[in-house]
Amino acid sequence: MIPPIARRFVAGESPAEALDHVRRANRRNVKVIVNLLGEHYDDRDTVRNDAAEYRSLVADIAASDLDACISVKPSQLGLDLGEDVFREELETIVGTAADRGIFVWIDMEDHTTTDATLDAHEEFARKYSDGERSASDLGSGGTGGVGVCVQANLKRTREDVKRLAGVPGKVRFVKGAYDEPADIAYTDSDRVNTEYEALLEFAFEHFDGGIAVGSHDPAMIERAIDLHEEYGTDFEFQMLRGVREDAQYELAREYDMWQYAPYGSRWKSYFYRRVMERKENLWFALRAVIGR
Ligand code: FAD
Repeated sequence: MIPPIARRFVAGESPAEALDHVRRANRRNVKVIVNLLGEHYDDRDTVRNDAAEYRSLVADIAASDLDACISVKPSQLGLDLGEDVFREELETIVGTAADRGIFVWIDMEDHTTTDATLDAHEEFARKYSDGERSASDLGSGGTGGVGVCVQANLKRTREDVKRLAGVPGKVRFVKGAYDEPADIAYTDSDRVNTEYEALLEFAFEHFDGGIAVGSHDPAMIERAIDLHEEYGTDFEFQMLRGVREDAQYELAREYDMWQYAPYGSRWKSYFYRRVMERKENLWFALRAVIGR
C-alpha cells in the first residue's frame, strides 16, 4: 500500500488506480501521460512483464476513451540487457499503441543511453507515422505516434534536436534529471537554463509542431508562451503529478496540458527522488511523518 504522503507524486499501485486518476485529471482539462514505475532491469521476465502491462494499459486507455498516453523508460524495456531486447519490447508496445491511436513517449535516461534511445525513437517514429514531422502526425492520445525526451544539460543536445527536426513525432524538452560528467554536460543551473531557452527557440522556429515543454519553471513557461506567440508553433506543457498542480490546472484553461503520472509497486525510489530534489518537498514529507 502506498502511504498517503507518497500519493501526492504517485497515482497508485494498479493500472485501475492510474486510470481513475486520469479520469479525475481529464475532468479538469489535464491530460495524463501514464508511466509504470520501473528501471534498470537485468532480468528478461521482468522486462516482458512490464511490456505486457503497458500493452494492456494502452488497450484500457483506448477502450475507455480517456485523454491519456504512456511513457516508457529504455532500461525498463531491457536496454541494460542489450539494444536488441529494448527495441524488440518497445516495438511490441508502439505497434499495439499505433493500432489503437495511443501516443508513446520514450523517457531519456543517463547519457550512456542517449544514442540507443534516439536511434530506436527515430526508427519507430518513421515506421509508425506516414511522413516527416508535421502537425497532423503529432497527436498524443487519440492519433498515435512516438515521442522522445531530450535534456538541455547535455552538450550534444543542440545537434540531437537538429536531427529530430526531420523526424516525425514529438520532442519533450527537459533540463535533465541525471548527474552527468562535466566534460559532456553543463553542470551550472544558469547555463542549463540558457541552453533550455536556446533549444526552445530553435524548436519553435524550426519545428512544425510537436514541442513538449517539460518544466515547472515559470521562466521557461513564460518563454514558451512568448515563442508560441512569435512563431505560432503548436506545443504542449508537461509537468509531474504532485508538482505545481495549481499551475497545471490554470495553464490547462488555455493550453494543452499533460501531467506525467507514474504508478506501480516500485514507487519508493521515485518518491525519494521527488522529496530530495527540493527542500519544500522534504519539509512536506517530514510534516506528514510527524503529523503536523
Ligand atoms: P527546476 O530547474 O528544478 O526549477 C526551476 C523553478 O521551477 C524553481 O525555481 C521553481 O520556481 C519552479 N519549481 C520547480 N519545481 C517546483 C516544485 N516542486 N514546486 C514549486 N515550484 C517548482 N528528466 C530526464 O532526465 N529524463 C526524462 O525523461 C524526464 N522526463 C520528464 C517529464 C516531465 C513531464 C517533466 C516535468 C520532467 C521530466 N524530467 C525528465 C525531469 C527534468 O529533467 C527536471 O529534472 C525537472 O523537471 C526539474 O526541472 P524544472 O525545469 O521543472 O525546474
